[in-house]
Amino acid sequence: MAIEIPSPPKVGMVSLGCPKALVDSERILTRLRADGYAMSPDYAGADVVLVNTCGFLDSAKEESLAAIGEAIAENGRVIVTGCMGNEADAIRARFPDVLAVTGAHQYEAVVEAVHDAAPPELSPYVDLIPQAYDEAGVKLTPRHYSYLKISEGCNHACSFCIIPSLRGKLASRRIDAVLREAEKLVQAGTRELLVISQDTSAYGVDVRHEERMWKDHPVRTHMTDLARELGGLRDGSGQAPWVRLHYVYPYPHVDAVIPLMAEGLITPYLDIPFQHASPAVLKRMKRPANEARVLERLRAWRDICPDIAIRSSFVVGFPGETEADFEYLLDWLDEAQLDRVGAFRFEPVAGAAANDLPDAVPESLKEERYARIMEKTAAISAAKLQARIGRVLPVILDEVGEPDEDGDIGATGRSQADAPEIDGAVYLRNVPADSAPGDILNVRIEDADEHDLFGAPS
Ligand code: SF4
Repeated sequence: MAIEIPSPPKVGMVSLGCPKALVDSERILTRLRADGYAMSPDYAGADVVLVNTCGFLDSAKEESLAAIGEAIAENGRVIVTGCMGNEADAIRARFPDVLAVTGAHQYEAVVEAVHDAAPPELSPYVDLIPQAYDEAGVKLTPRHYSYLKISEGCNHACSFCIIPSLRGKLASRRIDAVLREAEKLVQAGTRELLVISQDTSAYGVDVRHEERMWKDHPVRTHMTDLARELGGLRDGSGQAPWVRLHYVYPYPHVDAVIPLMAEGLITPYLDIPFQHASPAVLKRMKRPANEARVLERLRAWRDICPDIAIRSSFVVGFPGETEADFEYLLDWLDEAQLDRVGAFRFEPVAGAAANDLPDAVPESLKEERYARIMEKTAAISAAKLQARIGRVLPVILDEVGEPDEDGDIGATGRSQADAPEIDGAVYLRNVPADSAPGDILNVRIEDADEHDLFGAPS
């Protein structure tokens, strides 16, 4: 039976007040966009309306109350946040129907309230954030990393995917707006920006890579310009964020971002969803940038930037996949030596063209191939991680533990080769007592297993 894909809930936003409130609004919208919400430009189309209020002056309070009143009258499903949220009783007394009231800078609470009011329908087939939810339906991104969504929709027609019919053609966000959002995130404590979209390398194709002014110079709506500018951002203490590119198809112009990685301007990491390697399967999948010379290009990229980590995902058991196709994929993986690999068994999604293809692969065979690809990629990963033992690598901390009986503090972090949630971890011992999530430490790698590294600050 085909899997049904839900359409995304829509959020309207009314943002009042000072530049700090605007940062909050952008931060909230960044997260909601990444969670799969669509934005509604008007009240009528919104499943829920957020009013980000200002409570600094009486006149601002009046303006905020008027905005809440208008949103209640026009839509009815309203969540209040921002400075006036600190006066929840006054708001509730006047507008008993508001769904939730949260205070200034309470990103997590307001995002949770939106999840409650208009739950995102979870689907691994359309979600861009991996495992973004726990069993309760909400798992919020810590503040030290942020997903930055640069476009909606997609111009391709992969036969297993219904995103283009669900989300429409590629619609790139203005590059100056994306950069402003990223700059504010970095100033507010984001140490790692994860660039996401359905097709990051196609960014700006729909607007012919139009130029916008950013600071004092023009930038093109293009992945390379975006990467360079993101790499140039600095926080209040002059620190650059890690910049990680996801969902990049290997179009020829992707070659231009590799030198930026070699220079240390962006994180040496590329997430390329190859999905398969066999030309026959890729043809039936109708994949973009399906070209024979990918292995040569991977080699060339590694020559320029030896530390580049390449992650990818693959589907096994696509209709018509023969044993020869699957073995071609395993051999290709031996050659490609990808650093991180996710594998999925093909499942039909309601409305996808692939469902009509002949020669469905039996479930038992899908399972067998899944086990074989996992074994292959685990062995490649283990060998690659062994080679890191003895090196000193920058590691971003995600969680810091409590001191044990000897006073040692452990922490969990990630190297530049590891994106949150989908890749491996670096387990640390003996981190400094004042360590906090988001800190970046130089770590000597002491040990490795199939997916993770172990070490201590050097
Ligand atoms: S590139 Fe293919 S798989 Fe990705 S969103 Fe577009 S149609 Fe779907």
